[in-house]
Amino acid sequence: MNDRTENEKGAPPNAEHSSTENPNTDRHSPEYGFRNKKGEWRPPYPCAYAPLFTWPPKPLSVLKWGLSFPGFLWPWNSIYFLITLLTWFYFQPSLERCAEFHIGWISQMFLRNMVLLWLLSGGWHLLLYTWRLQGTKYKYDPKWQIKNKVFLWNNQVWDNIFWSCASGCTIWTAYEVLFMWAYANQLIPYLDWSTHPVYFILWLCLIPFWREFHFYWIHRAIHWKPLYRTVHYLHHKNVNPGPWSGMAMHPVEHLIYFSVLLIHWIVPSHPIHMLFNAQHTALTPAGSHHGFEGPVFNDKVPTGSYFHYLHHRYFKTNFGENTLPLDKLFGTFLDGLPENANSQEDLGNEIRSDAI
Ligand SMILES: [Zn+2]
Ligand SMILES: [Zn+2]
Repeated sequence: MNDRTENEKGAPPNAEHSSTENPNTDRHSPEYGFRNKKGEWRPPYPCAYAPLFTWPPKPLSVLKWGLSFPGFLWPWNSIYFLITLLTWFYFQPSLERCAEFHIGWISQMFLRNMVLLWLLSGGWHLLLYTWRLQGTKYKYDPKWQIKNKVFLWNNQVWDNIFWSCASGCTIWTAYEVLFMWAYANQLIPYLDWSTHPVYFILWLCLIPFWREFHFYWIHRAIHWKPLYRTVHYLHHKNVNPGPWSGMAMHPVEHLIYFSVLLIHWIVPSHPIHMLFNAQHTALTPAGSHHGFEGPVFNDKVPTGSYFHYLHHRYFKTNFGENTLPLDKLFGTFLDGLPENANSQEDLGNEIRSDAI
């Protein structure tokens, strides 16, 4: 989710940006933001980090970021947590049943996850790409998804759906099944929420940070050329991503990506923590890949990740997300589309040419 608190007040994006053009900051204007010669759109403000690690500290900004709308809690993390609660109370086979592997409860979990994936990825696709309720307003790349021979069946959407469902949903479910079985057999530390309510809530709030930390490092690792060429290239075929691109990964990448859950093998957690972590990992990519800057739908629904779009565009920048300043720390942060971005070979062309 975007948060522009740190320097949204018109601080210029980094060096590559020309200062010859004044940004149109009137959101009601059809010319809001910038469009370059290729028709690529970018917002009139740079990508910015959440105000968590600023010096001197800004406690009021942190509070605002945490509690305001849109912010850390509202709406998306609360929606994902609500999904987890509904899952746990209404759609999760009882732990007693999970003590032994059985096709019945395992297929129930697989089906449930498939429904969730279609609700989120399919939902964004339906609204933004099938019905096109937003048109191309705030769409980073003016093109719609393409027919191209780099994709299965020459079709980006079908290719993305295939990898998300066949590999993504299967490996996601396999991790959850393993953990439910481990909880049922008391093989891993179990946290009781009535005896440790504060720890329960604290750990829940930390999970999105842990996810981002884990994602940054595994993402750097799969950009190592041998892994990139054999595994991560598949996700990067989506230079112009859509909602289904988020979980379109090679099975080995899914295995690495969902290893974020292994922390529950060590850190005492309730199954709700594990489910929240798993669903956050599986469902948030739809919102960060749909290719639009939020808020969408008459400026009402906050969503989108320009930060991650830039990674798909440039490959060698923005490996993490915009809460923990890891890219900034390690020199891989790009805060916006350069003014002179007329060619997709501006940055990262060496790796990109491996991808397609
Ligand atoms: Zn991506
Ligand atoms: Zn990547």
